[in-house]
Amino acid sequence: MAQEKQSADSVESPGFYEIAWNLYHSYENFKEKSLTNRRFKHSDIVRLIEQLKNKKNFKVDKVGNSVEGRDIYLISMGSGKTKVFLWSQMHGDEPTATAALFDMFNFFSDDNAFPDLKKLILTNLSIYIIPMVNPDGAEEFQRRNIVEIDLNRDVLRQQTPEAKILKEVFDSLKADFGFNLHDQGREYSAGNSFNPASISFLAPAPDYEKIADKITEKTAKKLKEQKGLSLAGTGGRMMDDIQMMAMSFNYYHEVNLEQARELIVYSINKYLSDINNSQEIRPYLHEYPFSSKNVEIMIFVYGPDRLELPPEKIYCITSRKGIIRYYTRSDRDHPICKETYDEALSEITFSQGLGVVRK
Ligand SMILES: [Zn+2]
Repeated sequence: MAQEKQSADSVESPGFYEIAWNLYHSYENFKEKSLTNRRFKHSDIVRLIEQLKNKKNFKVDKVGNSVEGRDIYLISMGSGKTKVFLWSQMHGDEPTATAALFDMFNFFSDDNAFPDLKKLILTNLSIYIIPMVNPDGAEEFQRRNIVEIDLNRDVLRQQTPEAKILKEVFDSLKADFGFNLHDQGREYSAGNSFNPASISFLAPAPDYEKIADKITEKTAKKLKEQKGLSLAGTGGRMMDDIQMMAMSFNYYHEVNLEQARELIVYSINKYLSDINNSQEIRPYLHEYPFSSKNVEIMIFVYGPDRLELPPEKIYCITSRKGIIRYYTRSDRDHPICKETYDEALSEITFSQGLGVVRK
């Protein structure tokens, strides 16, 4: 299965990254404050679902009852052609995704924030959600339902009302995408950090992803020390082997075109040298040596105060498939300059002490 991490793969314009960044930093505004305790119960979410009934973006339907008679709800939003179905907490002691779904509802019921993004999502997708498939298990904070059946194993056998409800909704929707949302134990970390993974997609990471993460981290550390680039995200395209590795940075200093070029070429070179000098990763590289076409770098530029620079200044530098682009905020979709890595390299003078090495 393809491992698409947060990568520069499917986007040409930096707009997507900017949205992701802004979303990440405004998350506190949407966070459902009443679901902080992991042992919240069915009654806690019913109260929130009642409120959703009055909001314009949502449709709320009761789709059945648990063994102990608790109502199970299907919440839908959007009118797009592509159907997405998400359900959470089949295991009663795995509440993270349920809480996250209510954060998402808050996001979609806020009329002011991200109006264009919401419109884009709700006109392209029809989203269906069952939060807390196993309310009786949640009541006891136990994995199984009240008659000790694991719902995740019961979808085929259909012994429980909860699994039947899920199957019926699943079959009637014929969704294009389904997300079976579970928690993982806290021993699983997110990438190479100490942050535990809160939600995982069931695609186990092969070892080479860990090796790739390690190299990316090493390069990022050097780039922080040498150039003041702060790592914002990492990614890659890894399907059977490593085809592409990616990282994005924030940079808190205004740059002109020449400085922007130096910064991105320097970063690409450092990344390539760390990748190509690693014996450990070599067997997994789609091609060796990796070239500028195999790495993607995105640098967001802010003022020293971390605020946006004026619209005519460079705010984003990207390198993707060997092409470097420089964007200002005045036209986020069209770069002010676009050149190949080799062209950029030939513009740079070595006297500037960049450590650029030609092959
Ligand atoms: Zn689970």
